Amino acid sequence: MKPFANTNFRNKMVHLISDEKRWTLFQNACVFIVLGSTAAIMSLVNFITGQGSLTWFTLGFSAACFLNLLLTLLKGNAAKSAMILFAVEITVLFLYFIIFGIPDGFSVIWTAMLPSFGLLLFEIRYGSTLSLIIFAALIFFFWVPLGQSLLQYEYSQTFMMRFPLFYLACFAVAYLLERTREVAHNALRESQKNYEYLCYHDALTKKYNRFWLQSIIAEPEKYQIKPAAVAILDIDNFKLINDSFGHPNGDIVIQDIGDAINNTLNGSGDLCRWGGDEFLILFHTDIDAYAVCRRIVDAVHAHIFNFDNKELRTTLSIGLVTTPHGSTDDIEALIHQADVNLYAAKDKGRNCMISSSLGE
Ligand code: GH3
Ligand code: MG
Repeated sequence: MKPFANTNFRNKMVHLISDEKRWTLFQNACVFIVLGSTAAIMSLVNFITGQGSLTWFTLGFSAACFLNLLLTLLKGNAAKSAMILFAVEITVLFLYFIIFGIPDGFSVIWTAMLPSFGLLLFEIRYGSTLSLIIFAALIFFFWVPLGQSLLQYEYSQTFMMRFPLFYLACFAVAYLLERTREVAHNALRESQKNYEYLCYHDALTKKYNRFWLQSIIAEPEKYQIKPAAVAILDIDNFKLINDSFGHPNGDIVIQDIGDAINNTLNGSGDLCRWGGDEFLILFHTDIDAYAVCRRIVDAVHAHIFNFDNKELRTTLSIGLVTTPHGSTDDIEALIHQADVNLYAAKDKGRNCMISSSLGE
């Protein structure tokens, strides 16, 4: 049982990480939960140890974190406002910690956490800016006489001398980790893009492949493709071309015919290489598929290949099926009927199109 459960969890996490927007929301929500809970626990500790004003500050910060969490879950502009609000809240809280230092100068130590979660939440640019603002505040209050005179807690000279350096080291480590994470994340996204391309495209023609179509058939609601018509196009006597001009020239014919079909299609449908010398088109709604197929036949016939100083023209046989109600999500039924029509076109002597409406 267990390994399957783990694989399922890992798959879900990989899926989440690869969707950048959802991952950012998930990550921000986690940070707000961790910080809000930590602040709530610290409020309790402050209350028990009799730290009156600190209790209110940490309690207020905890409530603010959960408000930010709520805004994050609302997504969109609310999530953006949560981040601005949080930057203000954290700056106010940490300035309070630095100046008042209660209890016993401890609270300022929490500022050292800012670089790690700041860079995670706000990314390198804004996270670094926020971290450096708090660093500047530390320098001002701990190293500049005017700042020192404003402090409400008497830190030791050793602490004031060394703490900003400790903070800077924390920032350097957090920066390094965030850069490494960013590089790894970008590499993951890049390889996912390549993987998706290789998965869904045919290596020879660069058109969609059969696996792409099978994925659509398996999950129609995910791809939201409801074709108005389907055509299967097969090059006539292609074996002869291979036999007469060689396999590499046969490859050129398949590539060029794929391009000719795609150019004529001009975005009115999705083209996929269905098999060896067969292409399949899913026509978008409101397209006169019959007229487009006629133009494809003309374009392919007009294409002249020149192999071994011999001119070659090719022809297509086409099985076309249209939907009586404008579109359908039963792609399998369309493909089946288009295939039947293609066979009929071949039987009829090739270089022709057989068309019917689904259910006819
Ligand atoms: P028909 O008119 O009945 O379609 O006859 P055909 O000769 O075209 O027969 P068919 O469509 O069955 O033949 C397809 C041939 O395409 C068989 C296979 O050797 C060849 N083929 C399949 N994939 C490739 C490829 O990637 N490159 C090349 N050059 N040939 C391929
Ligand atoms: Mg053929």
